[in-house]
Amino acid sequence: MIEVRLADRVRNLPPYLFATIDKMKQESLSKGVDLIDLSIGDPDIPTPSHIIDSLKKASEDKENHRYPSYEGMYAFREAVANWYKRRFGVSLDPKNEVLSLIGSKEGIGHIPLAFVNPGDVVLVPSPGYPVYPVSTIFAGGEVFIMPIVESNDYLPDLEAIPEDIRNRAKMMFVNYPNNPTSALAPDEFFVRLIDFANNHNIIICHDCAYSEIFFDGVRPKSFLQYDGAKEVGIEFHSLSKTYNMTGWRIGFAVGNKDVIFGLGKIKTNIDSGVFQAIQIAGITALNTPDVVLAPIRDVYQQRRDALCDGLDEIGLKHIRPKATFYVWVKVPDGFDSTTFTAHILERCGVLCTPGVGFGAPGEGYVRFALTQSIERIKEAIKRIKGVF
Ligand SMILES: *Cc1c(COP(=O)(O)O)cnc(C)c1O
Repeated sequence: MIEVRLADRVRNLPPYLFATIDKMKQESLSKGVDLIDLSIGDPDIPTPSHIIDSLKKASEDKENHRYPSYEGMYAFREAVANWYKRRFGVSLDPKNEVLSLIGSKEGIGHIPLAFVNPGDVVLVPSPGYPVYPVSTIFAGGEVFIMPIVESNDYLPDLEAIPEDIRNRAKMMFVNYPNNPTSALAPDEFFVRLIDFANNHNIIICHDCAYSEIFFDGVRPKSFLQYDGAKEVGIEFHSLSKTYNMTGWRIGFAVGNKDVIFGLGKIKTNIDSGVFQAIQIAGITALNTPDVVLAPIRDVYQQRRDALCDGLDEIGLKHIRPKATFYVWVKVPDGFDSTTFTAHILERCGVLCTPGVGFGAPGEGYVRFALTQSIERIKEAIKRIKGVF
């Protein structure tokens, strides 16, 4: 019998903070509780049917059954460039400024391997998407936490990053519209960010997974719309949230060609790209007219209003989100994010996500996801009202 011992990089992973809640969720389910799960960052709305039809057809073509090209089919990269031009007014060269990904998580998970040497620093927003610190650790990098908190409008305080950290930093992750806080970043922030990156030679990786889940008719911007952005970084996009395609595993990275090249180099040696039939369906998705997407946004907007109006009535503080399908809610006095989550799970059968699970600076908040029907959201509010 051998002794199976995990590598240090796995043993050194940050603790999994959702374990207590997961256990409580399982207990409730086994007791037969009618659980309203508002913790899931995965759309309940199906993929639009024209995209499914496109996959069906493409999957029957034997040409698509073989290994795809590493960097993505040219036609897919061209569709990305066309979408970018239409949506953001930004020109991209499909040849060297666009790379297909097996979901944007895959790209985020791999990029430090291309640029971070052991001991190099990666600047990571917290609370934030857990893959940023994990991919840093897997590459042997050192995580420097940039708290994103209400008092600074959920933006990292670049001035507060110590001199020696700036000098050792190779890369920074940023994410707007933000998961979990739903914050947007103003123009001035991106302008300062590009300046900061230039001054300290830091690669910016902007995660833009929620650019298409916006409300009240105001479309979030791309990082690449700002002058000089392409000289300092790349942007990650996902078809998952935009087209309700989380299970399909397709996304892309765009921007600085040297950064795209480095990420592509890692991928070439690890994976073999995205199934071509899915890329073809991805082209169909990227060409979806707005008349198909607008009703999906309307659904989220109505759910947002139902949830936020309800939270207002109960007196639970939050900012009504302008984008993403999350609402970031301050927990009332006498609770922390875990005890509040446990309280409403036990007393109401409503599940949210404790903010501390996204990193220590997320303490004091919980995240509600708008991935349930408006009826269920209203029911959740009714139940919570009963215990506050
Ligand atoms: C959902 C999500 C992603 C990953 O999406 P993929 O399905 O891997 O494309 C990336 N970043 C954030 C912040 C997300 O919430």
